[in-house]
Amino acid sequence: MRATITRRSLTLRTPLATSYGQPLRSRELFELVIEGADGVPGRGEAAPLEAYDGVSSQRTLAALESYKEVLEGSDELEGGALLDACREANDLPQALAAVDLALWDRAGRRAGKPVAELLSDDVLAHVPVNATIGAEDRAGAAASAAAARSVGFRCVKLKVGVGDDAGRVAAVRAALGPEVALRLDANGAWTVDEAVRAIESLAASGLELVEEPVHGLAACREVRERVAVRIAIDETAAEPGALASGAADAVCLKLGRCGGISGLLAAATLVRTSGSEPYVASTFDGPLGIAAAVHAAAALRITTACGLATLEHFEDAGTHPLSVRDGQIAVPAGPGLM
Ligand SMILES: [Mg+2]
Repeated sequence: MRATITRRSLTLRTPLATSYGQPLRSRELFELVIEGADGVPGRGEAAPLEAYDGVSSQRTLAALESYKEVLEGSDELEGGALLDACREANDLPQALAAVDLALWDRAGRRAGKPVAELLSDDVLAHVPVNATIGAEDRAGAAASAAAARSVGFRCVKLKVGVGDDAGRVAAVRAALGPEVALRLDANGAWTVDEAVRAIESLAASGLELVEEPVHGLAACREVRERVAVRIAIDETAAEPGALASGAADAVCLKLGRCGGISGLLAAATLVRTSGSEPYVASTFDGPLGIAAAVHAAAALRITTACGLATLEHFEDAGTHPLSVRDGQIAVPAGPGLM
């Protein structure tokens, strides 16, 4: 099998402010292309985001270089065995995702089917997605919310824990009207007591859920017990035992952290077994990562809005079949990922 790695950088239209550090201006991705003796290619992508999960581009590239050696030296291995061999060489989920995606893409092309149809025989045709509003001022947040509503989003996520939350949440709700779901994401900015106070006062605006109000399983569990609004974990889902803990009402899963589609499906099963609800979000992935997440969410029949409407934030994502229409992304119908 031949393997090539290409480094790629995508520019954000507007730098995205986050409560965990510097504004995000661009995004580095690694594309992995594999090709078997039959000439059928498969493309995958690694999208580490150091500000989010601490995994650097250098570490990811080093892992991918070691996978390239494994892939090029393992003509007799296929699918899961190849992924296992790569994991043995360097166990880095954010990089393994590129191998997993490329293998699924190649499998879809060989079968002449979209990846979702390899994962399940009862898949959604469209995956609901949310718009995301960054840490802006009251007027800016309201304008973004009105724009999201006007193009048909049925769920909007607002970053909170960044200043005038009360004013911004009220302004966003006013701009959305009563029908559009409003989800908050604090990225762990609050303590337990701050979270309880904030959520109790913001709840009057009608909240679908609050993602990562605090960091840590024990803290999330405590917040959940003290407020009536549904609580989701995102960063905390990386803690050992978090997926099956039942500590939150919902769990945000990401391809990179799960090591690709296969790992994401396994994680979603654990989450559902514990009585929580999984949904999927990107870490500003490129088109291949978004396509993979859409196929996985469609196969899992996830109806909670997923955080996959992120390609529109790039100036230069290229052509892809993943546009958002009426708050949904249609599952790509071609063979492979897209
Ligand atoms: Mg989040």
